[in-house]
Amino acid sequence: MNAPKRVLITGAAGFLGSHLCDKFLGKGYHVIGMDNLITGDLRNIEHLFSQERFEFYHHDVTKFVHVPGELDYILHFASPASPIDYLKIPIQTLKVGALGTHNLLGLALSKGARILVASTSEVYGDPNVHPQTESYWGNVNPIGPRGVYDEAKRYQEALTMAYHTYHGLETRIVRIFNTYGPRMRLNDGRVLPAFIGQALRGEDLTVFGDGSQTRSFCYVDDLIEGIYRLLLSDYAYPVNIGNPDEISIREFADEIIKLTGTTQKVVYKPLPTDDPTQRRPDISKARDLLAWEPQVGRAEGLRITYDYFRNLPPELLYQRDHKDFRGYVRKGSKG
Ligand code: UDP
Repeated sequence: MNAPKRVLITGAAGFLGSHLCDKFLGKGYHVIGMDNLITGDLRNIEHLFSQERFEFYHHDVTKFVHVPGELDYILHFASPASPIDYLKIPIQTLKVGALGTHNLLGLALSKGARILVASTSEVYGDPNVHPQTESYWGNVNPIGPRGVYDEAKRYQEALTMAYHTYHGLETRIVRIFNTYGPRMRLNDGRVLPAFIGQALRGEDLTVFGDGSQTRSFCYVDDLIEGIYRLLLSDYAYPVNIGNPDEISIREFADEIIKLTGTTQKVVYKPLPTDDPTQRRPDISKARDLLAWEPQVGRAEGLRITYDYFRNLPPELLYQRDHKDFRGYVRKGSKG
């Protein structure tokens, strides 16, 4: 029997990273998870530590990355990914997209591994082309609060393409649109955990601006399947993965009110700086290249996600931040 293929997943304890670990373990891979646990949470991968084919490194990828043995694939998913996090840790956000990506591209080159980097719809900024196709170059404010994330991800794409064209490295770039599901951080400020958390605590739902801005929400299992297909494809250029079902934030608040049965109301707060007014992926490329499209509608995805949040230990609901598992690291820990 052949030895399992070995994949390194950075940001493994985060929302998407942890689901990727599950996916690749489920497909028979040997998974090496890496995370510095700044925004990740070991509770997301606690269930994996007993598996033979899983190991975890507590490491910051902006420092030199060493992984013993062979590597077939690298998935770079380490990064803060919510507007509140960019405000709290702007320099780390820039470093992980820039220095972290450079370290992992170097590692991929030295191991002869294929690398997939997590990019984002934020590279389109506040888009004036709608829906967004991969050929659109974007409308980004480099010096606004989101600039630290948007520009790090744009630089990440440039660096990844340079490794592809100059070194001939096998690279993949996924542009991820708003995604939701179990293991999102309850208090990361993103709209879905914010609304569900508010409903569970009996608070009013805070809609920013007049709520006419739109987003298109993709259920996490759909996104993970798209990423898996992209990694195994032979396409080196960026591919949008997201759900094109667009909704205004005001309507989204109404859906959460219905879903949770809360008797609270909507209150309006100022719109954050540079908040994109509309966002919807054009997924023609993913459909054509990967035969991929979302399978889970918002009603079903939201029900699953609500069940996850309402079964969390109640004390988490009131924590501003719940990273209290720092001491809990195993196997190959450098922590
Ligand atoms: N939003 C909101 N209330 C909240 C949190 C977010 O109305 O409590 C809005 C936010 O202004 C944005 C949308 O919801 O227009 C999505 O915000 P999120 O932070 O989830 O993601 P992003 O802006 O990066 O798409």
